Amino acid sequence: MITISVTREGEGETRVALSPETAKKFKNLGARILFQAGAGERSYMPDQLFKDAGAEIVQNAADAISQADVVLKVGRPSQEELQAMKPGAIFAGMIDPFGSRDGLEALASKGVSAFAMEFMPRITRAQSMDVLSSQSNLAGYKAVVDAAAHFGRALPMMMTAAGTVPAARIFVMGAGVAGLQAIATARRMGAVISATDVRPAAKEQVASLGGKFIAVEDEEFKQAETAGGYAKEMSNEYKKKQAELVASHIANQDIVITTALIPGRPAPRLITKAMVESMKPGSVIVDLAAERGGNCEYTQAGKKIVEHGVTIVGFFNLATAVPYHASQMYAKNITAFLSYMVKDGKLQLNLADEIIQSTLVTRGGEVVNARVREFFSLPPLVAEQKEAR
Ligand code: NAD
Repeated sequence: MITISVTREGEGETRVALSPETAKKFKNLGARILFQAGAGERSYMPDQLFKDAGAEIVQNAADAISQADVVLKVGRPSQEELQAMKPGAIFAGMIDPFGSRDGLEALASKGVSAFAMEFMPRITRAQSMDVLSSQSNLAGYKAVVDAAAHFGRALPMMMTAAGTVPAARIFVMGAGVAGLQAIATARRMGAVISATDVRPAAKEQVASLGGKFIAVEDEEFKQAETAGGYAKEMSNEYKKKQAELVASHIANQDIVITTALIPGRPAPRLITKAMVESMKPGSVIVDLAAERGGNCEYTQAGKKIVEHGVTIVGFFNLATAVPYHASQMYAKNITAFLSYMVKDGKLQLNLADEIIQSTLVTRGGEVVNARVREFFSLPPLVAEQKEAR
């Protein structure tokens, strides 16, 4: 029987890696579930719901983890949790693999097989395990809700006896998962939407959600998408043309939601200080790229500021502000992932499988992930060297 343990997250993390629904699913798979008391509290899911779903409630994290074959978390394990893990145990969470070499080496030295959920490949069969998509969706929604809350005007057009209110104009920069959800949300709230992206595929998606697509559609634009569906870093010439187009457009917008990212690079700077200064007082910018340096030159990471009458919000990780649904979706993603590894009631890691290979970061005492080894300039593993020969 597989023992799965889920514990409370650290300070500032509101989500939890298990929901009552996924606890039931694990139970049906024949697993034993150890759930730390209060772990669901910040997601508005009390212990009783987990108990009813068949989980055992354990007071102490170390007690839960020391018995576990599988430890599921949203973020990284604490020092105490790490110490309690059994050698050979499986750990899965959003461990921010490029964020701390020490953290990874600590997991490796415990002999844990650790999986980074943010490394899930963007392939059709891994869609149900894609935590970046599920959390970005909620972040895109919350960005619009937050923008509306900071906006001193109304969003929808209103025709009343006391006069007509025009619909607010919202511009979404970066039409990936978060951007498309922001467009859909803003549309439902009655705003007039425009959006930009450097990937041509985004054009049709924006139009299908009722937004106007604004972009420099030159030869470079036609080639701007990688095989994995992500954006490429654009040339300086393209950036200049894009900046001119954006500058004239932004001056007439009430709200700008920015979500533009390029994997492994700092966020592209799309909104200059001059562009912010061209906006009307009372306008709002929500910069979802704040954690990676921000799409707006004025953005201050983790803060809300006001510059020239424009409110600029640079809060991190907006999905954590919708913890109930963020946890439910995350828990579903991680359950789909774990179920994928269980065959005949036993955990079986097929190391040749693309999903396992992409997400597995530490195993057998070593950091085994090729992307991570390259990032930290670690020499390729012996097996990789042999393959390269
Ligand atoms: P992301 O978070 O890396 O970036 C957000 C958006 O910013 C992207 O659309 C990107 O093109 C855009 N961007 C980058 N530089 C820009 C610039 N200079 N100006 C304007 N926009 C810029 O991307 P994401 O949301 O993770 O999604 C990337 C792609 O992957 C999308 O096409 C998405 O539909 C696709 N996807 C596929 C799957 C799957 O098949 N399983 C799952 C999730 C996402």
